[in-house]
Amino acid sequence: MDYQLTKDHQKPAIETLKQWISIPSVLDENDSKTPFGQPIQEMLELALATCRDMGMETYIDPEGYYGYAEMGQGEELFGVLCHLDVVPALNPTEWTTPPFEMDIRDGALFGRGTQDDKGPSIAALYALKALLDQGHQLNKRVRFIFGTDEENLWRGLNRYNEKEEQVSMGIVPDSAFPLTYAEKGLLQLHITGPGSDAFEMNNKGALNVVPDKAVYKGDKTEELSNILNELAYKYEVNEETLTVLGKSVHSKDSLKGDNALAHLLEAMSELYDHPILNFVKDNFAKDVNGQSIFGQVEDEASGSLTCNIANLEVDANHSKLGIDMRIPVTADKDQLVETLTKAAKEYQLEYEEFDYLASLYVPVDSELVTTLLKVYRDLTGDMTEPISSGGATFARTMKNCVAFGALQEGVADTMHQVDERMPLDNFYQTMEIYAHALKALVIKA
Ligand SMILES: [Zn+2]
Repeated sequence: MDYQLTKDHQKPAIETLKQWISIPSVLDENDSKTPFGQPIQEMLELALATCRDMGMETYIDPEGYYGYAEMGQGEELFGVLCHLDVVPALNPTEWTTPPFEMDIRDGALFGRGTQDDKGPSIAALYALKALLDQGHQLNKRVRFIFGTDEENLWRGLNRYNEKEEQVSMGIVPDSAFPLTYAEKGLLQLHITGPGSDAFEMNNKGALNVVPDKAVYKGDKTEELSNILNELAYKYEVNEETLTVLGKSVHSKDSLKGDNALAHLLEAMSELYDHPILNFVKDNFAKDVNGQSIFGQVEDEASGSLTCNIANLEVDANHSKLGIDMRIPVTADKDQLVETLTKAAKEYQLEYEEFDYLASLYVPVDSELVTTLLKVYRDLTGDMTEPISSGGATFARTMKNCVAFGALQEGVADTMHQVDERMPLDNFYQTMEIYAHALKALVIKA
């Protein structure tokens, strides 16, 4: 790639990134003056100062939940949604160089936040600056929106969305190239019901993981073994404990996993009469898609509805089953909830919502996707198809936004890890790709 638009901006971009990396903008809930702690507040102020130096107007939320920087004029608003918080560097001594002092070696930028998300954010900012320094003019308003709580609960961007203007279209530089145009909705929920005198259960897996182990402790180990043999499920017995074995995957890939807990509950339903056991056996034991409740729910853009039976607690007084559902982008979440609530009621069980993230969907033939894809392909020659199963990014929070970069094919994903790094080539190419993308989308012809 020749760096036609951004050559002169490589050096200043790296100098600014070094400053940004030097602030350990990790969540600190124990500060009384700011929502997310002093370092994040300081980082937000620094990012806005960087933007003012580029000639942008800036605004900071008086309570410190978010900030943004804008330039240009007109009705339309193009957004670049970034985040300034980072995950902690838990074992700094394991790092080759200190995590918050950016080091350049082996052709890469090392430091916490170089990949996630300060590096890509700086690449986008300097891509815009390069265009402006070359005399180009904006044909609409461009706003960089800075989230401050992306690694945790998205409270910053949620507050922005309650109080501020929505963008007409935008990009999120916080994922991988070429781009992510669809992400399933995420619904995490509990089904609650009565306790049991006959058995106890304490399988506490994370909601977003398909359990590869499910433990039974009780006096019917032998009977349970026989049933599991008949069903051909794997298990092991250790004194009074019986552990059903499966295969663990992220719950967004539930179809590729093997759910040990669902197997255990199916087998137990032949020995014990409890509504949660029956509910799981009838509806999820052999079907990750939950079709006996929901029917067939799927679409071409994002695939099928999946339901992960993630955890279950049962004591004498109550029972609570945790389920993680991934909802296709064209499905109606409220209708699914209504259906599930009704289904649970038939077993005298209650539905309780725990967490919900809306889906992301921008059609592949939209102006935004076709433009970004053409720019990317022309510059790199990489014809990889756009992605429809990415993780969760801020692109979900506003309409008509896609995740665009900055990980490239062949570049190690070191986000959240020791020695987080962004290869220099990846950084420079990202800046050039963003400059061409912005030229196509926000610059006067
Ligand atoms: Zn990120």
